[in-house]
Amino acid sequence: MSVALKEQTIQQRFEASFAGSKQRIEKARRVFPDGVTHDSRRLEPFPVYVTHALGSRKWEVDGHELIDFWNGHGALLLGHSPPEVAAAVREQVAKGTHYGACHELEITWGEWVQRLMPSAERVRFTSSGTEATLMALRLARIFTGRTKVLKFVGHFHGWHDAVMPGAYPPYESVAVPGLPSEVALQTVVIPPNDLNLLEQTLSSDLQIGAVILEPTGGHWGRVPIRGEFLRELRRLSEKNGQLLIFDEVITGFRVHPGGAQGHYGIKPDLTTLAKILAGGLPGGAVAGRADVLASIELRPGKPKMRHPGTYNANPLSAAAGVAALSRIAGGEPCRRANETARSLKRKLNALFDERLNDWICYGDFSLLHIQPRYDGPRPDGDDFIPHAGRLDRLDVPVNPKLHSAWRQGLLLNGVDLFGFGAFVTAAHSEADVDATVAAVSRTIEWLREEGLA
Ligand code: PMP
Repeated sequence: MSVALKEQTIQQRFEASFAGSKQRIEKARRVFPDGVTHDSRRLEPFPVYVTHALGSRKWEVDGHELIDFWNGHGALLLGHSPPEVAAAVREQVAKGTHYGACHELEITWGEWVQRLMPSAERVRFTSSGTEATLMALRLARIFTGRTKVLKFVGHFHGWHDAVMPGAYPPYESVAVPGLPSEVALQTVVIPPNDLNLLEQTLSSDLQIGAVILEPTGGHWGRVPIRGEFLRELRRLSEKNGQLLIFDEVITGFRVHPGGAQGHYGIKPDLTTLAKILAGGLPGGAVAGRADVLASIELRPGKPKMRHPGTYNANPLSAAAGVAALSRIAGGEPCRRANETARSLKRKLNALFDERLNDWICYGDFSLLHIQPRYDGPRPDGDDFIPHAGRLDRLDVPVNPKLHSAWRQGLLLNGVDLFGFGAFVTAAHSEADVDATVAAVSRTIEWLREEGLA
């Protein structure tokens, strides 16, 4: 690198090199609040604009080729536009995109969910994960006659009213802008991984009719949860008459073809799905006990949960979903993504050990997290959980300056990480892993020069 370039800050280099993206955000700010269409796509001083994507890569408008670890916010276990999914969607477009009627593919799609997800006696498709958790909670209220839900601090289940409390820091505050306090009071929020508190809460508040959680832990495993907690949760919720809802919007078809429930052998009453379910197109579902989903049925003398939804089981999403799930069913894509993630985690930790021993990488399955400014014991194996899984040590905000410079530096080095996390796919190769580690290494060098690492 020339001296002149080195004299520039990371941000100056980023602004010069990603000029096409910079130009677009200026237009976008006149259209969208903050110029973006999803909160997490914000980036200082501007986000990158992408023209196309394939496999493990995506291309930015200025021509930058990026190794992608967003992968459709986790929706793309097979990478971008896998040939069988692309072909299925193309074929379906030619046959029509919305029949306003029942169609054969929705049955095939639902049958795949039944085959893969152990809890799926019945399935109902929605348009998103948010709609799926909304439906699951309403079904639970009808079934149990109890109005409250228990959720865990830092667990995200979409953005409807009932699941917002405890979803975003600062967790001590229960106030959510725009949410009436009467509504917020229907959601009981406790820290994860505390079995005594869980037992006490479930047995003492009999208005709680359902428990919902991200089964591998909040923020897709940033604060990990493992099998023992899930087994106890299953036992306690059964004992106290609460329905257990696994929100497998991220873990479903990713950690194992049968999701976290398939991996751990624990059957929830209801499961919420989206992302990989629809092969990269919009779609969600609630799957679960037939007697609970029966509230959607028209039954004389029984309450009916109304459920319209223009895009439920949309033919394009069904085509993509069937193509993706039929490939995932064999288990190889999950195994491959998990293995590649393990390799990336090991290599990053080797780099951190050598260069920055206050950083670590951890995470289960194909879901990785990096923690800067870490002061606990170094990772000692693939199952390592930092700070013994303590919420107050793991779910901490990162210095915004470090966050922006880290992302800008990585983008300049050809990598798009999801902040300090990564969704690894079956399309990532060992060469991608090595290129990513090299990009992280160079970025760390730059951060050091700016006193940020
Ligand atoms: N549940 C979990 C665990 C999620 O991660 C998300 C989205 N990231 C949702 C629900 C909401 O899904 P959607 O964005 O499709 O509404």
